[in-house]
Amino acid sequence: MPDASFIGIDLGGTQVRAAAIERDGTILERRTAPTDRAGGVAGVVAQMEALIAGVRSPRTRAVGIGIPGAFDAARGTVLDIPALPGWTDIPLSDIVEARTGLPTVLENDAKIAALGEWRSGGGRGLANFAYVTVSTGIGGGIVLENRLIRGHRGLAGEVGHTRITDRSAPCSCGHQGCWEAVASGTALARAAQAAVTLEPASRLATLAGARPATGEDVTQAARDRCPVAGQVLREEAAWLAAGFVNVQHLYAPERIVMGGGVSKALDLMLADIRRGMRERLLPGHAVPEIVAAQLGDDAGLVGAAYRALELWTGR
Ligand SMILES: [Zn+2]
Repeated sequence: MPDASFIGIDLGGTQVRAAAIERDGTILERRTAPTDRAGGVAGVVAQMEALIAGVRSPRTRAVGIGIPGAFDAARGTVLDIPALPGWTDIPLSDIVEARTGLPTVLENDAKIAALGEWRSGGGRGLANFAYVTVSTGIGGGIVLENRLIRGHRGLAGEVGHTRITDRSAPCSCGHQGCWEAVASGTALARAAQAAVTLEPASRLATLAGARPATGEDVTQAARDRCPVAGQVLREEAAWLAAGFVNVQHLYAPERIVMGGGVSKALDLMLADIRRGMRERLLPGHAVPEIVAAQLGDDAGLVGAAYRALELWTGR
């Protein structure tokens, strides 16, 4: 049935986005609304219903929703979304199905983005690839032998919480020393601010001015050849290399696709990342291709629609 189309929903703490997408990934129609946080679950569900009504057509067959938190895939229930208070034990699949008449499936937001990049972005055509998003935290989605791996209860792929250092580095999960704690965009911004304090005359400090330094400041200052920013990025590259070595040893991807805000500095860090990986990889492992994600903010939207397609085709 070549005419079928699918709806992807990207549920975020600041925006809810929906798009209708063809089987080949072409976006037919899209709508965005600022997340109705004050309206709670009922408010956001009403927004989803309106967004779906805005993008659906008689050809629409199913809905996929990316969840930025914990959920039970088998029951289609949201267990907890840290960024959205009140989202505890919500049978979201059933609710959306009842309101729209469309079969609905939930999926982790990082896995959804991996699916989007696999089907129509940086991982297209590969049987084995790893998607790693480095932003506020670090998340991942792994495609092995032509399948996005989900694991028991859909929990596989939490690469950000692999322990990577003994140094005191508090993580968002409550533990110490996770990859996310030392290599995320949050960690990069913290390193940038520390560098600004030590080097108040640097280009990096000038860019940041009176506000706390950000990852974007580091990237810009490094492009302006600021040696302080260059050093911050070399340290970031070393942490990324250490984590990518783990990803490579565990999954042996042909390519690592890096998403999230920190990937905007990938070109500045790539040589250091590759060198760091080469030093630590086991014999027989080569450094895989490492590329920036191609779909940007649309990865979750496109991936959610592909998840809906999978639901509809019974994959
Ligand atoms: Zn952690």
